[in-house]
Amino acid sequence: MLIVIMGPPGAGKGTQAEKLAKEFALPHISTGDIFRSAVKEGTEMGKKAKEYMDKGMLIPDEIVIGIVKERLSKPDCSAGVLLDGFPRTVEQAEALDEVLDELQLKISAVVNVDVHEEELIGRLTGRRVCRNCGATYHLKFNPPKVRNICDHCSGELYQRSDDTIDTVKERLAIYQKQTFPIIEYYEHQDLFKNIDGARDIDAVFADLADHLKKTKD
Ligand code: ADP
Ligand code: AMP
Repeated sequence: MLIVIMGPPGAGKGTQAEKLAKEFALPHISTGDIFRSAVKEGTEMGKKAKEYMDKGMLIPDEIVIGIVKERLSKPDCSAGVLLDGFPRTVEQAEALDEVLDELQLKISAVVNVDVHEEELIGRLTGRRVCRNCGATYHLKFNPPKVRNICDHCSGELYQRSDDTIDTVKERLAIYQKQTFPIIEYYEHQDLFKNIDGARDIDAVFADLADHLKKTKD
C-alpha cells in the first residue's frame, strides 16, 4: 500500500503519518525529516537545504526527487510506504509517477489533511519537536507530560527555526502557490480524498484509517 499524505504546513501530516505507519506497518518517509537530519549531520546537501528551509522556501525539485528516488529503491519500500511532505510541486508529482513506474509500484491513495490558515498558524508557532527522536508536540494541543521533555526518550524539546511567525507565513504562501495545484493532479487520477483536519488528533486519525482500510493495495 503506497500512501501519499498531503496538506499545508502544520495540518498534522507528521503526527498522523507516525500513527498510520504503526497501524499499517509501513515505512514513514518524511522529506522534511530527511533534510533536517542532513542539516544536523552537516553534510553538503544539508548545508544547501538549510539555506532554503530557513527562508521557508522549497528545496529545488532536482535535489528532492533524487533523494526520494534513492529512498524508494530500498528493499523496505517494496511492500508499501507512507510519503509525508512529498510531492510538493506538480514536477515532483510527475517525477514520482515515473519513479514508481520504473519500480513497478503504484499509488494506492492520496489523502489531504485540510485545515484553515488561522488554525495552521497557531499549530506551527506552538509546535515543539524532540531534538533526540523527532517526536512532535504542541504547547497547548499536545503537550508533553513534563515541560520541554520528550515523553518517549526524555530528549529536550526545541522550536524549529522555520516555525517562527514570518517564516510560517512565507511557507503558507508557498504552499498555496506551489503545492495546492497538486490536488487537481491527483483528482484527475481518481486517487484523492479530503479529510477534515480541523478536529482533534484521534478523530482525524479514525477518519484516515477508515478510508485507507477501504483502499485496495
Ligand atoms: P505537519 O507535519 O503537517 O507540518 P505536524 O504533524 O507537525 O504538521 O503538526 C503541527 C502541529 O500541530 C504540532 O505541534 C502538532 O502537535 C499539532 N497538531 C497536529 N494535529 C493536530 C490536531 N488535530 N489538533 C491540534 N493540534 C494538532
Ligand atoms: P516539513 O518538515 O515537511 O514542514 O518540511 C520542512 C522544509 O523542508 C520545507 O519548508 C522545505 O524547505 C523542505 N522540504 C521538505 N519536503 C520538501 C519537498 N518535497 N520539496 C521541497 N522542499 C521540501
